[in-house]
Amino acid sequence: MTKRLEEFLEQSAAHHRHLCPRQVLGVRMGLLAGRLLDIPIPQAKKRLLTIVETDGCFADGVSVATNCWVGRRTLRVEDYGKVAATFVDTKTEMAVRLFPNHHSRQLAARFAPEAGNRWQGYLLGYQRMPDELLFGVQSVKTAVPIARIISHAGKRVYCAICEEEIINEREIRRGEFLLCRACAGDSYYAVFDKGYESQMYEFSGYSCDEGKVFDGHMSGNFA
Ligand SMILES: [Zn+2]
Ligand SMILES: [Zn+2]
Repeated sequence: MTKRLEEFLEQSAAHHRHLCPRQVLGVRMGLLAGRLLDIPIPQAKKRLLTIVETDGCFADGVSVATNCWVGRRTLRVEDYGKVAATFVDTKTEMAVRLFPNHHSRQLAARFAPEAGNRWQGYLLGYQRMPDELLFGVQSVKTAVPIARIISHAGKRVYCAICEEEIINEREIRRGEFLLCRACAGDSYYAVFDKGYESQMYEFSGYSCDEGKVFDGHMSGNFA
């Protein structure tokens, strides 16, 4: 095990009070991504943008190795339930997606003959396996332009329906109106709070006076 891998694993384990195979995968993925994109990691600035495809221990391994964090806007979670990640060089727009090889679980045991159980086998094997046995690599292009994923952190608007503040250019334009994702119909929650609904009806009345008819409901008149 290299000195660097060892250091990163220690730091990652400190977040969890344990070290587990997925943290090892996260750290090793970060190390490999840095080499493939030729970006020194852990990065000091924000050149590397990482999109992880699951949350949990794996993501912390990636964060420790790369210094990409949700709080720094350099780590995004697209929850596909996969121990995989795309690493984007925001300077060159080169991007690589790394994922565990289909046979990495079976192979791990061969690199850890002393392991007492399967879990131990993964934990040790993943630290010792060469990159090419551990990971698959894809050269990818993000579906949305990288500049839009990064967005401008200083921007701020208000949703025309709920009136909540929207930052980082995450508003959606519907005709002349700017809406938040929830009001535009792309919501991960539904609201049961009656108080909130009555505010909405007030707003709808006000809008009628302005000659803009809202039906008091989320996306109805904005399609
Ligand atoms: Zn864990
Ligand atoms: Zn809204």
